[in-house]
Amino acid sequence: MLQNLFALLRDKVDFYFRTPVTRVEKRTDGFAVDTESECFTCDQCVISVGRSGSKWMESVCRDLDIATKSNRVDIGVRVELPAEIFSHLTDELYESKIVYRTEKYGDLVRTFCMNPHGAVVTENTNGIVTVNGHSYEDARLHTPNTNFALLVSKRFTEPFNDSTAYAENIAKLSNMLGGGVMLQKFGDLIAGRRSTEKRIAESFTVPTLAATPGDLSLVMPKRILDGIIEMIYALDMIAPGTANDDTLLYGVEVKFYNMQVDLSEDLETKHKGLFVIGDGSGVTHSLSHASASGVFVARKIAKEA
Ligand SMILES: Cc1cc2nc3c(=O)[nH]c(=O)nc-3n(C[C@H](O)[C@H](O)[C@H](O)COP(=O)(O)OP(=O)(O)OC[C@H]3O[C@@H](n4cnc5c(N)ncnc54)[C@H](O)[C@@H]3O)c2cc1C
Repeated sequence: MLQNLFALLRDKVDFYFRTPVTRVEKRTDGFAVDTESECFTCDQCVISVGRSGSKWMESVCRDLDIATKSNRVDIGVRVELPAEIFSHLTDELYESKIVYRTEKYGDLVRTFCMNPHGAVVTENTNGIVTVNGHSYEDARLHTPNTNFALLVSKRFTEPFNDSTAYAENIAKLSNMLGGGVMLQKFGDLIAGRRSTEKRIAESFTVPTLAATPGDLSLVMPKRILDGIIEMIYALDMIAPGTANDDTLLYGVEVKFYNMQVDLSEDLETKHKGLFVIGDGSGVTHSLSHASASGVFVARKIAKEA
């Protein structure tokens, strides 16, 4: 697809690969865009640096006095159980999205990234080890288990404005106690005791990831853990066996969100002609949304040209 796009545009657009933009400057007659070797000027500038450019985007916003906020993060665990428990759902719909509002706090807990017959894996982001999951198309690589994340969405209110650091510190705590990802049986969590190698070995559900048995209640904030426990009991009603003692919980799983750039409905900053699109804006979080934001701004600019 990218090759086709490139072939279509190469005669109309100047592409500069491996050329990081270092700075965007506001001038009286438009914008200056600096790279290490060149400076480009323009009347209108569209920034689209994705998640990897988040820190850079922050510095641009600081330089140009554009407000930002970072107040959302999703924190939770990866659940692993025998595939039969969810097969009546996953056989019909590979990935079901189930959202539950907790009675205790009114928080939203959702299932995410369901992997029938999949494996639990670790993810290393800048030295912080968190948990994730995947499954293989090749049936020979299938496992007897299904895994999915249970995530609690947390939005902070003023004055706190650094949800990413909050989640990173929770993940660091699990790394400190478990040397990486921590694993606990649901039954142990409810009984208020840590899981041990022996108790995990006795479990009918065999873990697909070698994680350190421990106690998630020493890592996760109470509000988040309460939400996850409530959700597991709620899921047990539609998929009996979810709240079994041997259900495995791996922690922590975190979904970070980019900081949100203060933009108009047209995705324009307070500086007329400077737009921010895609995941770097904090407005979109997926391929289709990021693409749509680009088309949206392109149409606006073309209409006014
Ligand atoms: C492992 C993984 C799996 C995913 N799976 C899915 C999925 O199944 N479905 C889905 O919808 N989404 C998925 N996503 C999310 C999806 O990739 C993003 O939502 C989407 O790519 C955002 O598009 P974007 O154009 O905003 O940013 P990107 O695609 O990240 O593009 C931004 C580009 O800007 C470049 N850049 C950054 N800083 C600078 C700079 N200073 N100067 C110049 N260039 C810079 C980056 O190198 C990058 O090439 C996944 C993401 C990851 C990491």
